Amino acid sequence: MDVDSTASTGQPRRVTVLGATGSIGRNTVDLLRRNPDAFTVEALTGNTNVKLLADQARALKPRLAVVADPARYGDLKEALSGTGVEAAAGPEAVVEAAGRPADWVMSAIVGAAGLRPTLAAVRRGCVLALANKECLVSAGDVMMREVARSGATLLPVDSEHNAIFQVLDGAQADRIEKIILTASGGPFLRRSSVEMADVTCEQAVAHPNWNMGAKISVDSATLMNKGLELIEAFHLFPVTAERIEVLVHPQSVIHSLVAYVDGSVLAQLGTPDMRTPIAYTLAWPARMTTPAPRLSLADIGTLTFERPDTERFPSLRLAREALQTGGSATTILNAANEEAVHCFLGRKIGFLDIARIVEDTMGRADVGPLDSLDDVHGADGMGREIARELIARRVPV
Ligand code: NAD
Ligand code: MG
Repeated sequence: MDVDSTASTGQPRRVTVLGATGSIGRNTVDLLRRNPDAFTVEALTGNTNVKLLADQARALKPRLAVVADPARYGDLKEALSGTGVEAAAGPEAVVEAAGRPADWVMSAIVGAAGLRPTLAAVRRGCVLALANKECLVSAGDVMMREVARSGATLLPVDSEHNAIFQVLDGAQADRIEKIILTASGGPFLRRSSVEMADVTCEQAVAHPNWNMGAKISVDSATLMNKGLELIEAFHLFPVTAERIEVLVHPQSVIHSLVAYVDGSVLAQLGTPDMRTPIAYTLAWPARMTTPAPRLSLADIGTLTFERPDTERFPSLRLAREALQTGGSATTILNAANEEAVHCFLGRKIGFLDIARIVEDTMGRADVGPLDSLDDVHGADGMGREIARELIARRVPV
């Protein structure tokens, strides 16, 4: 066990991983496998990949493994036979797994599908490692109220927010001048709008620095990812939207910065390996060793910075506008973006259509208050319906 014992109770930490078969989930499982004495696993969940989920379950011996797709129950049960790991299937079983007693829960399901399981974990008042940014974009105030009510501890996994969490002095919140979110700029940073019109899914998901799931990779290419992160930062940290800036930094070495009123600017740096922020949340408030490649600034030599171009990347502007509008605007933005990215990945629309669909959906949808989960579901459904209608009307590419 290499978790710093100063903060450890001596007991292994009981953990659950929601979305274990995805990019964040696999990195989390990797760290758990390297530290078998420090953690015991309550539950692992996946969507459809039974083979990987069963492999992970054999290695980590959780009490329960859940596949969200109910049609895969038989496959999972068979794959786990003789292991002693209980098998379950379906969305309700994922929510049940999330709400089981655990000290630490990783929320790494992609998209608004992660909201109900994440809330189930929050309501138990555990330490929640939050990778799923769509939860906060879709249900920000509603979710943060549940966090406050339950006493859950939210630890951000998103590398930018994890960086800010590491350097933000909560006791001096009124001494913060601004938060600066860094953005790699994605694979199309140097392309004109005309060139971006014809890019393929394969080009869009090939991120220059990070190896991630398909949806977030497309979001990084449109810069919607940074827009979602702007909204995420607004909910996580004690700053107004105007005090959150975005800075393009193509090398992805500085993961984000906090500027204080005395002129000091604090940053967290590292190589682009998600095991570093995941490990920070797993060992918190201690630190644990990871195999992430070490940063060598001498080898990198030059770090560069530039302002984002919201003409070529309108998604970032749309996200800021939704945050300024408030209420259900960010729920609708997220829903429209999820639908548009899904259709882009299914080769039904072009790359530039993604931002157009989001913008047109925002123009048509009625924004209302966001006081309850019912409001969230209503706005999410409306955003998806309008976006699907707009997509259906588009000429196929
Ligand atoms: P991914 O697509 O690789 O994995 C998603 C996981 O969610 C998989 O385990 C999948 O089986 C599961 N899943 C998908 N749909 C589901 C459903 N309907 N019900 C239950 N489970 C479902 O995605 P990822 O890259 O690991 O990202 C996960 C989340 O973390 C996203 O919200 C993303 O924005 C965020 N995030 C990812 C990274 C990264 O480096 N990958 C970095 C920062 C934040
Ligand atoms: Mg990020």
